[in-house]
Amino acid sequence: MTSKTLFDTLWDQHEVSVLDDGSSVLYIDRHFLHEVTSPQAFAGLQKRGIPFFRPDQAIATMDHNIPTIGQADPLMGPESTLQVTRLKENCEKHGITLYGMNHARNGIVHVIGPELGLTQPGMTIVCGDSHTSTHGAFGTIAFGIGTSEVEMVMASQCLLQRRPKTLRITVNGQLSTGVTSKDLILYIISRLGTGAGTGFFVEFDGEAIRSLSVEGRMTVCNMAIEMGARGGLIAPDETTFNYLAGKEFSPAGEQWVEAVTHWKSLKSDENATFDREEMFDASDITPMITWGTNPGAGIPINGVIPGTNQKALDYMGLKSGERLLDKKIDYVFVGSCTNGRIEDLREFAALVKGRKKATDVTVWIVPGSKQVEQQARAEGIEKILTDAGFELRQPGCSACLAMNDDKIPAGKYCISTSNRNFEGRQGPGARTLLASPLTAAAAAVTGRITDPRKMIVKCDT
Ligand code: SF4
Repeated sequence: MTSKTLFDTLWDQHEVSVLDDGSSVLYIDRHFLHEVTSPQAFAGLQKRGIPFFRPDQAIATMDHNIPTIGQADPLMGPESTLQVTRLKENCEKHGITLYGMNHARNGIVHVIGPELGLTQPGMTIVCGDSHTSTHGAFGTIAFGIGTSEVEMVMASQCLLQRRPKTLRITVNGQLSTGVTSKDLILYIISRLGTGAGTGFFVEFDGEAIRSLSVEGRMTVCNMAIEMGARGGLIAPDETTFNYLAGKEFSPAGEQWVEAVTHWKSLKSDENATFDREEMFDASDITPMITWGTNPGAGIPINGVIPGTNQKALDYMGLKSGERLLDKKIDYVFVGSCTNGRIEDLREFAALVKGRKKATDVTVWIVPGSKQVEQQARAEGIEKILTDAGFELRQPGCSACLAMNDDKIPAGKYCISTSNRNFEGRQGPGARTLLASPLTAAAAAVTGRITDPRKMIVKCDT
């Protein structure tokens, strides 16, 4: 028997047929929907008179447009209102479960899937959203698809795809105190570049990856696409099974035992050959921050801005050779499907506990889901935040892409725990510096870019 990578094993398990041109018809286990990319696909189905083939395998949420304050009586622009209304109508019409605004299971699509146990090892998962790669943290083939592909899955529960090549990224050793999964992935992208993963599906491996919590693994897989990869995955292990045990939609009883037995078999064979291999040492990684306008523009927090991209430097109002450390910032955004989970809020709260918010900084702390919001309240995180002068908002994508009112004003600097720092991503003219929740916390209390390692009393990463 030939040795196989985990990716190839999963692909083969889901391959319905191979066409003459070499592309595969892939069976899709789970289809996540949200209000932005689904309306055209639903309209396409309607136009062709085709029913939604497997509504029970789809789950919908509202996340991109919704406000993060005052959700009980939401104020939304006409376009946002139209999108959420359409989603509601379409879900009702096709019998699709919808976790709309204010629903106890509502939240960012890539946060709720895992926390509800809807994301399970061995699955193929798609969504009309690039950061679907997040679900790869459970050992799934998960990737974002375009509107016409969303329609294809709605109509057939299958997808026409070319099999990508495989890239294994191994990170040996242990991360140091104050260095998080966000720093790890920003470091990898800064070393490999934003085009390194093009045509590949990445498997992350090595001691540093295995030592991460499932939430940390999600942060890594979430940003796999920022190096151009189709997606990223991590083989499931005891950490994964412990995370999934008892989740609302996880298998239970006999089915749980059977599922775990199967999940334990999901790993790359020892002698599996990858099309490409990269290796890093965790001890080389420090807290990272981006200075430019793509996620590959990361430098160590105490590093010097390189002089490689004048357009990006001009947009960011920065100079080559300058240090970011101690630079004044205007906004801090903690949230998104990269870092809007409970562990991120715990890290942020652990650092700001007993300190006070900097007076001249606006800080938006946005939980990734209703469950995260409730948990933050139940664990006393909200109290710590309030005592320090912060406010916990309501769940949504928020300033990750600023489709609602959470926009960073032009020219203002924002330390953001999200995944993209493109020009205008957080609002026209906004200047985004990507970093971890710990670095965001340090900046939120000092008002300046600060090395979080200098402020940590005891923070588990
Ligand atoms: S948080 Fe940002 S990256 Fe994640 S789904 Fe929402 S808009 Fe996309």
